[in-house]
Amino acid sequence: MNVNPNAPPAVRGLIKALEEQGFETWAVGGAIRDALRGKPGEREDWDLATRATPREVRRLFRRIVPLGMEYGTVGVFGSDGVLYEVTTFRHDVITYGRKAVVAFASSVEEDLARRDFTVNAIAWHPKRKFFDPYGGAEDLKRRLLRAVGDPAERFREDYLRVLRGLRFAGTFEMEIHPDTWRGMIDAVPGLAHLSMERVREELLRVLDSTVPSGTLELYERSGARAVILPDLHEGIGPSALATIDGVRGRRTEGSRNVAELRLAVLLLFGAGKETDPATVAEILERLRFSKSEIVRVGAAVSGGLGPGPDLLGDAALRRRWQASLGPRHIRDVLRVWLAALRAGTSPVGRHEVFQLIARARRDLRNGVPMSMGDLAVAGRDLLELGWAPGPEIGRTLRRLLEAVWEDPDLNDRATLIELATGEGSAQ
Ligand code: ATP
Ligand code: MG
Repeated sequence: MNVNPNAPPAVRGLIKALEEQGFETWAVGGAIRDALRGKPGEREDWDLATRATPREVRRLFRRIVPLGMEYGTVGVFGSDGVLYEVTTFRHDVITYGRKAVVAFASSVEEDLARRDFTVNAIAWHPKRKFFDPYGGAEDLKRRLLRAVGDPAERFREDYLRVLRGLRFAGTFEMEIHPDTWRGMIDAVPGLAHLSMERVREELLRVLDSTVPSGTLELYERSGARAVILPDLHEGIGPSALATIDGVRGRRTEGSRNVAELRLAVLLLFGAGKETDPATVAEILERLRFSKSEIVRVGAAVSGGLGPGPDLLGDAALRRRWQASLGPRHIRDVLRVWLAALRAGTSPVGRHEVFQLIARARRDLRNGVPMSMGDLAVAGRDLLELGWAPGPEIGRTLRRLLEAVWEDPDLNDRATLIELATGEGSAQ
């Protein structure tokens, strides 16, 4: 292996500091795997494995965050201000198929033995270079995903490994070794025992990857999808996959932007015609999504894959729709529509979608009111005209807003007061 992982100086610094105190330390996990793949990961996190116990790590560094002391993990700030995970060598002792219970180990060999796949069980050190007892580098070269040790046992220990494996195979375009695949298939029913939080995090990692379709196809083929998302009775077919891949956008740090919209597409295709907000909320609540995530995905689902003929033909209806969604959710809906256009799954043509976008933008530019507060009259004006305080004022403003949506030229103080007074006197 003549690849040299481009470890940041801060990482080398942490390794050096630990080793100067006599604690053997290695870089492990995704960063090493991705360096050998020749592609830095989408989220480059450098993890260190060390012989030092969490207490010793804690004593050695000033700026730490106790991330999971009981599992041996301490977050240590490097000289670059980045928080790195430093984890004591450990091996799994008892496992319940949900989460392994760990004990500290004395060698890096033992630590690598507990890792899930050969490609994730490679250690690297700035001077000692690679330590790769399971041939992970060779597997990467051959694009072969293999479990470390006996696949059946490893998946039984922690069912999440099944989903992780499908993700690595899907996103890195690797073949799954036949024994590992058999182990996965046998373990699929066990996915039902995983905590919803772990499933959700893993699903979001998949949806956050550049091209999720490979993994989602494997989810379907292995039967994993049917266990973790049983509500999607339609399954994930080619149209859904193409549209999900078609959702693009900036992946800003810590934001689930793209993933949430792809989730909306998944639900749009999978939950069938009856994808209403209640169904969406039910599915997402089961997966322990937050309220705001549920609202966001629900809004994106409500827009469908493209504008219906009513939105295109009726300006007042379109404005009412825009107002009810609000600008942030509209942007989400538009991104889903553009994805559907890219994927060829849009119910309408490119022209219609762009026409709708242009009209919505023109309204914004022309200051067409989107809420009662944007109207050229306010409740105060009506009170000054002698209206009695009460709900009738709100109802009148709402009617004025509807009238302005029919004809934006009406949004002028005098005209609106005239309209309101006409209504008022008709009471
Ligand atoms: P990603 O690029 O998605 O972060 P990763 O391999 O770095 O992939 P992490 O969840 O960051 O995944 O875990 C870091 C390392 O810890 C893995 O490379 C693997 O060696 C080990 N690991 C993580 N989760 C498990 C698990 N469930 N079972 C066994 N080993 C695991
Ligand atoms: Mg990682």
